[in-house]
Amino acid sequence: MTLRANDSHGPVVEERVLPGTPVENPRGCPACGGELGAYDLVCWTCGTKVRHLPPVENLTPQMRELQGIAAGAIANAMASMLAGRRLGLRLSIPEDLLQAAQRAAIHGNFPVALELASRSGEEAETLSIAFEALQGRLRKARHLIALAREEGADITEAERLLEMASGASEAGDYRGALRYAIKAGQKAEERRGGVTAWKVEIGDWLK
Ligand SMILES: [Zn+2]
Repeated sequence: MTLRANDSHGPVVEERVLPGTPVENPRGCPACGGELGAYDLVCWTCGTKVRHLPPVENLTPQMRELQGIAAGAIANAMASMLAGRRLGLRLSIPEDLLQAAQRAAIHGNFPVALELASRSGEEAETLSIAFEALQGRLRKARHLIALAREEGADITEAERLLEMASGASEAGDYRGALRYAIKAGQKAEERRGGVTAWKVEIGDWLK
């Protein structure tokens, strides 16, 4: 991955709360008051980015910079995950990676935190892309199966593949589900093709 210094995806810089700002729960979200754990850099409740890092004493400038970069990666992973959750995705793999990244950051192991948070964010993005593609493929497969049924083709196998796609999707395996949905559509097409070829053949005899 590339490390960028000063854009919105860059490292999170610790900011002090403005003097006079009422803070009821110093560990809570400044926007909604939702509960925040250490290195929860996006509020799970309202999506606000929280630019506050637990202070660590005696960090070398290099490690301090790495802390900021790791925090940026954690915030990005959390933002991707929040977007996915709002679409109803199950994201257990990126969630586990994020928790491990946060634990590493809490223990001051910023290189490991950066690595794990980056993987978490990538995994959340990949799963979101697969989930979106899956919705389109499921619609297409259902449509093809309906056509095949109307034409009297055997749809047993296509329906079985479609069920496997649904099962994989419910388990959060969107990549696996996508493969099954594509196969279900292909199988329905294949059977329809068989029926069409057979009808053409009959048509030829009747000429
Ligand atoms: Zn909030």
